[in-house]
Amino acid sequence: AVQEGFDLTDVEGDLAAAGHGPLPVLAVVGRPNVGKSTLVNRILGRREAVVEDRPGVTRDRVSYEAEWSGRRFKVVDTGGWEQDVLGIDASVAAQAEFAIEAADAVVFVVDATVGATDTDEAVVKLLRRAGKPVVLCANKVDGPSAEADAAMLWSLGLGEPYAVSALHGRGTGDMLDAVLEALPEAPAQTFGATIGGPRRIALIGRPNVGKSSLLNKVAGEERVVVNEVAGTTRDPVDEMIELGGITWKFVDTAGIRRRVHLQEGADYYASLRTAAAVEKAEVAVVLIDASESISVQDQRIITMAVEAGRALVIAYNKWDTLDEERRYYLEREIETELVQIQWAPRVNVSARTGRHMEKLVPAIETALAGWETRVPTGRLNSFLGEIVASHPHPIRGGKQPRILFGTQAGTRPPRFVLFASGFLEAGYRRFIERRLREEFGFEGTPLQISVRVRE
Ligand code: GDP
Ligand code: GDP
Repeated sequence: AVQEGFDLTDVEGDLAAAGHGPLPVLAVVGRPNVGKSTLVNRILGRREAVVEDRPGVTRDRVSYEAEWSGRRFKVVDTGGWEQDVLGIDASVAAQAEFAIEAADAVVFVVDATVGATDTDEAVVKLLRRAGKPVVLCANKVDGPSAEADAAMLWSLGLGEPYAVSALHGRGTGDMLDAVLEALPEAPAQTFGATIGGPRRIALIGRPNVGKSSLLNKVAGEERVVVNEVAGTTRDPVDEMIELGGITWKFVDTAGIRRRVHLQEGADYYASLRTAAAVEKAEVAVVLIDASESISVQDQRIITMAVEAGRALVIAYNKWDTLDEERRYYLEREIETELVQIQWAPRVNVSARTGRHMEKLVPAIETALAGWETRVPTGRLNSFLGEIVASHPHPIRGGKQPRILFGTQAGTRPPRFVLFASGFLEAGYRRFIERRLREEFGFEGTPLQISVRVRE
């Protein structure tokens, strides 16, 4: 799972792209089993190998970095989310809504061998209302005889159906050309938000941890909770809030304030909202209800932020309710359940009493500073040289893989490319990450480390 060869043009491409901030987002939507995941894998192709190389990255990934014809973008695979309690129609509608809110363009996948179903038609309505560019992928066209099936999909009114076999790769090039045409150069969601603009914060956490209360507290006023009907789409609402003398943009607060009345699948729906907010933010403040045990859902939300490459702050809320015993067990839980994000700044707050609200901004600033840290190549390589000398990689099959050279290809979050003479084991990569953090800080930021091997 490692790229081969020394392709320095790749690194230069990384470097060139690094200063350009967030990438445009492509969402892949469609009914279950139409081939979304297969298509996403096909789009990622060789790039996927690099992603797999990131230490600690394993599950619940929301978006992946892809490249076609020299342009980079993010692909959001909604396929993994639907094994939930929602019915098919509801889950596909929720995906489409997510895509509409968070994506800059959408690939709508239809199984051409089945043809357009009622569910497909419903999604088309949602997509059309949103006005985002849509590329129609007529999938499972494995050979010329199925071309006619693809042509039937003109009836959806989304323009040309691109006949594709995600499984075999047939037709994906033409479709990706159309995707590039549909994608804007820069993501619309982050417009005006580069250096100098307000920093973007996603306040996330599972239902009832106190997001709405915290938002009201920091905004310094009680606001009207907007009641909305679940399933309707609308523009996300960002709120500008002044904290510590600085104006911050809290993104997608509509998702926080909205009360979703879904008996089943509310959690699923909330996770879509979380993903949308994370995509738009620079820093995620994950709120955890300190009065309850840290849950799998809390961990999933943290993982979303980490895998999206956002700066991270953990806020333990409802601190006013904690007795000594609970505080003791909370610390044990943090040690065992959240060991993988020990690097994230932590604040213990109460949205009810206002406890430690003033610590929130310094924590956010620390995380953003770590997120933007750049290590000069010379310094990085003298550091790598010392590690290689003092802690060489274990010998495997008579060979000793060595790190030959490294460069920081980007920031926000810091991305490193290491060139090595052989495959570096996961344990060794984790060790390198740990040492990088000890040496250079990187508080509050995930690190992305990819390894390129020269055989
Ligand atoms: P998802 O649920 O939409 O993500 O669908 P998957 O990507 O998991 O694919 C569902 C099934 O369709 C799998 O068995 C795939 O191998 C199959 N499939 C996906 N794309 C194609 C294709 O282009 N041709 C054929 N024949 N099968 C495909
Ligand atoms: P959200 O679903 O994450 O937006 O959570 P809410 O802000 O609606 O809060 C859920 C419940 O927790 C409400 O009853 C709040 O009053 C309560 N709550 C929120 N923050 C605190 C806190 O710091 N201390 C206590 N004791 N209760 C809180």
